[in-house]
Amino acid sequence: MSELLSAKTCELHVHIGGCLTAEDLFELGREVYDQIDWSLFVNSFENAYGTRPDPPALYRQALAEGGGQTLRPYCVYGREDGGDFARFQAKFNFSICVFRHWWHVLDRQDELLDRIVERHRNEGLRYVEYRAMAPFDAEDADDFIDFHTTMARAMVRGARADFHPRYLISLPRWQPLESYRVVRRLLEQQPDLADVLVGLDFCHFEEGYPPESTSAFFERLHRDNADRPAQRLDVAYHVGEVYFDKSLESAVRWCHEAAELGAVRLGHCTALGLDPAAALARREGAHECESTSERLAQIRYDLHHAEALRGRGMVVDCDALRAEQDDLSARDGSKPYRRPYSEARLEEIRLRQAFVLDCLTQSGTVIETCPTSNLRIGAVPAESVHPVHNFLASDVPLAIGADDPGLFDCRLEEEVDWVLRHGGLDAKSLEQRLADPYSFRCGRERPV
Ligand SMILES: [Zn+2]
Repeated sequence: MSELLSAKTCELHVHIGGCLTAEDLFELGREVYDQIDWSLFVNSFENAYGTRPDPPALYRQALAEGGGQTLRPYCVYGREDGGDFARFQAKFNFSICVFRHWWHVLDRQDELLDRIVERHRNEGLRYVEYRAMAPFDAEDADDFIDFHTTMARAMVRGARADFHPRYLISLPRWQPLESYRVVRRLLEQQPDLADVLVGLDFCHFEEGYPPESTSAFFERLHRDNADRPAQRLDVAYHVGEVYFDKSLESAVRWCHEAAELGAVRLGHCTALGLDPAAALARREGAHECESTSERLAQIRYDLHHAEALRGRGMVVDCDALRAEQDDLSARDGSKPYRRPYSEARLEEIRLRQAFVLDCLTQSGTVIETCPTSNLRIGAVPAESVHPVHNFLASDVPLAIGADDPGLFDCRLEEEVDWVLRHGGLDAKSLEQRLADPYSFRCGRERPV
């Protein structure tokens, strides 16, 4: 593993829920499979695939055959699953049923989490930032605090001289400020956890949650970080991953806005790297419609950045934009706004992508790219148009992550090798291009 060692041993983008491998699920289920409530998995699998699996029978077969291989078709999401989100969720639910049983019924959370952390340590990783999400209730946040405390304690327990696990709390996009306040409460109650709790994350469905809806949260976060630099929390933000609800311009803008708000790393940003023609070809009429309020946000953005966009060779007619703004402002913001694409518009979107990539480069905002995840969930239709090619051609700081290594059966090392195979750079050039992802870690600006 001497080639690209830094990139292969520093993982900045994994979700704990997606870390359990088929082998882990075999071991965790082998003695309790007939007590696990499988209904979530069985029902969603039947809906997505049309057949109703029998998990206890699968385990009996796996035990007879001596391993997790038997479980793989039910818990590993592969290329053959066809980029269908319902199928992805169905296979994820296998893991969730086992996870919940160990967490809520057996009350053996530590063993469950130690297994995940230990696997990464044994794979030779040196630094990992894990993320996880819990249900949030602003009226009674004790469960939220307990869940994330248990996670963070697993990181404290798993640390070794040559292995440093860290933790990011995934905040619900619909209640960023409220849940963030509870995270600060957690840190006040247990200040020792600040060593491992280094950041916050936004993940899961992004559609319907524009970055600007987190502006009050970011304002508060920046104030708190200035007041408490030793407990500084940085934000990693999934954006521009799945964005069929809006125009390509808006999807590009969302990535820019998340960076402008102060996220230090952006997850996926497919919208900045996938060629617009390939993006449109994914679905009939893709990205032609968005809400009127989204169009208005785009007009505000274009007026604000008019000069910089013109500097890129784009035509920005401010008078026409203001007239459109006046016209649309009188309408119901939720009403759909439709604009078909032309070749000229696609060319303009490429300029917008390059503009935002340069802005991220200037601000030092990192893009986390997850090759297998992007290809399997269907956002990226083929290797040849993977956004990583555009990212590599730019100077944007770039980190490679596995996202859900258990669910996709992809180790970080393999993800980096994928970029080496497909990215058009030899190992030495890629190593130089990627630099050391450790320098992109959350909490890196804390005083030492
Ligand atoms: Zn992710």
